[in-house]
Amino acid sequence: MNRLENLYRKIIMDHYKNPRNKGLTDDTRYKQEHIKNPSCGDDVTIQSFVEDGVVKDIRHDGSGCSICCSSASVLSVLLKDRPVKEALAFSENYTKMIANQPYDETLEFEDALAYQGVRKFPARTKCATIAWKAFESTVKVEDNDE
Ligand code: ZN
Repeated sequence: MNRLENLYRKIIMDHYKNPRNKGLTDDTRYKQEHIKNPSCGDDVTIQSFVEDGVVKDIRHDGSGCSICCSSASVLSVLLKDRPVKEALAFSENYTKMIANQPYDETLEFEDALAYQGVRKFPARTKCATIAWKAFESTVKVEDNDE
């Protein structure tokens, strides 16, 4: 394992062991989406609260592999307090990055860059993206109201 891969692995394990923004809320202003990945046993729920076109808060809960659970934590940190459009741009480009397609490298992905390594393991790409897919659907519901 080279130094960069080692760093990425540390970031993933840190978010797995010490997840940020974990735990769901009963607040009905939050939109919720639940997605399962049967091939790996991943089960993730994302809640987001959007106000004035800005993602004010993201909560998550679930169980599964380290890649899936940690990515929910990473996105909750990265996308919080961003305008919905910007958060969706991050999500779209993250999905491209994982799929090994050209993506907007000017976006500051911070800890989310750690998942680049998943590209080498196509069977795990779903693990790295389901939390993001769930997030997208929680904010797209809000979009339809415009
Ligand atoms: Zn998984």
